[in-house]
Amino acid sequence: MALVAASTGGSAWIMKDIINRIFIEREEAMVWLIAGAVVSIYTIKGLSSYGQEVILTRIGNAIIASLQRRIYDRLLGQTLDFYQRYAFGDLATRMSYNAQAARSVIDLVMTSLGRDLMSVVALTAVMVAQDPLMSLLVLVIMPGAVIGVATLVKRVKLVMKAELLSIAKIVSTLQETATGIRIVKAFNLESHMREIMAQSIRDVETRSNKIAVTSAMTGPLMETLGGFAVAAVIVYGGWNVISRGADAGGFFSFITALLMAYEPAKRLARLNVQLHTNIVGVASLYDLLDHPIRTVEAPDAVDLVVTKGEVRLDNVAFAYGATPALNGVTLDARPCAVTALVGPSGGGKSTVFSLIERFYDPVSGIVTIDGQDLRHVSFESLRRNIALVTQDTFLFDGTIRENIAYGKPGAAEDEIVEAARNANAHEFITELPGGYETRVGEGGGHLSGGQRQRIAIARAMLRDAPILLLDEPTSALDAESESKVQEALDRLMVHRTTVVIAHRLSTVRNADRIYVMERGKVLQSGSHAELIAAGGLYAHLHVLQFRGPAEKQLAVAL
Ligand code: ADP
Repeated sequence: MALVAASTGGSAWIMKDIINRIFIEREEAMVWLIAGAVVSIYTIKGLSSYGQEVILTRIGNAIIASLQRRIYDRLLGQTLDFYQRYAFGDLATRMSYNAQAARSVIDLVMTSLGRDLMSVVALTAVMVAQDPLMSLLVLVIMPGAVIGVATLVKRVKLVMKAELLSIAKIVSTLQETATGIRIVKAFNLESHMREIMAQSIRDVETRSNKIAVTSAMTGPLMETLGGFAVAAVIVYGGWNVISRGADAGGFFSFITALLMAYEPAKRLARLNVQLHTNIVGVASLYDLLDHPIRTVEAPDAVDLVVTKGEVRLDNVAFAYGATPALNGVTLDARPCAVTALVGPSGGGKSTVFSLIERFYDPVSGIVTIDGQDLRHVSFESLRRNIALVTQDTFLFDGTIRENIAYGKPGAAEDEIVEAARNANAHEFITELPGGYETRVGEGGGHLSGGQRQRIAIARAMLRDAPILLLDEPTSALDAESESKVQEALDRLMVHRTTVVIAHRLSTVRNADRIYVMERGKVLQSGSHAELIAAGGLYAHLHVLQFRGPAEKQLAVAL
């Protein structure tokens, strides 16, 4: 950058000799000498511009890459509530579009403050050396331009912030359309979605136009002021040369420097506007980087040692926001037994799972596994010992084999097949055209609900963790899939501590202990027979909720 600036100054400086020695004094030998000097100056300028650009771009790329890695690390560390707060579109925009804003800031700061500022300084030095009085004249006009530009900055900043929000909205709507396309079509929501999208697109369009209008204004502003400056210099300089016999070469060198300074000076004047446009984006990146992580690993965390696999919640309270989700819950899941959680939706059953996985820390009370407080154990060891099977089975976009192998990284082929067999999945997998190498599609879209479930169970089988958290699939499956899934689950539960959010009558009947939860409290606990005998919520739910086909027929008959 220094070389670029110096050669720029040099090319203005040499004008003096070009005019004086070649055109006025007509020295023939100087023609070659000066031509040679001009070639050297421009070669140096070209090479150094090239070097500067390459180095700068590499630095920029390295900074973006490290920012993206840091942000993704941070996102992985966040608790689940973070993902409910930030829509996918918002995160995607911040990570891609706004990372580009960071690179623009780097480019702007480095190029403008480095090359342009140095060039302006070098050219100003040439001007001052050639004619100090005229330089003063020019410098008086400059501050006017700066003040004009500064007033535009604030407006651009506000509009820019709004534009980023609209862009995030476009991405979110797009994602909603992609994931919810069945519902969109089935409920004829196309025109509704089109209207939402059109609104966001319109917003972005209007705001982009507004930004363009404001930031384009800086150009003409500088242009007009530049015209005045050049005119003033010509009037004064012309008079100086014509009437007072001043040095013509010096005047040309001055005016060359002035004209050459114009572009970099213009860029410098616009720097503020452009910086602010991009800094809004960068600020939202840092929002993510600085977002506090709610649940962090203790610095002296030790590995969880599971001997029996007893999970306990002791007088646990927890709240997502202001309203409590769990309120004094005490619960004991015994080794090699099935503990069922039942109760109306919103009762806090899923929250219990989240606390056992330590996705969150309790507000008060304590969660332990074999007597070890979860707050003192490492995340890795805790989650290695727990297998989670949820209703909304999530599969990664990859092959079936890969999806099962996530349960145990580096698992051997026969272990994977064994797990699939135990999960009642081997048969349907081998019937697929690609077998274990079949791609499941994004979110497992190429497979049926029951098939996805069985792959998830195979994953849990492979993990072979002593503690199993199971959110029972409800009516999402047809009868045949359900019985296959159920068989697989029964196999999975053997010799483990199983905590199950139960929806099926047979599960609760066979459970060793049932906890009935409502509004964040355990209302009743005991075996099926005990709870039926006691009456109350369980007996009531039993009639309402756990009516399998046989019970339903009975109810109809009655
Ligand atoms: P269940 O699994 O029994 O249906 P949950 O544990 O999901 O119940 O919910 C318990 C309570 O916590 C409910 O009142 C629910 O609205 C609230 N809740 C659950 N998840 C969140 C969340 N991520 N943010 C805010 N509130 C939540």
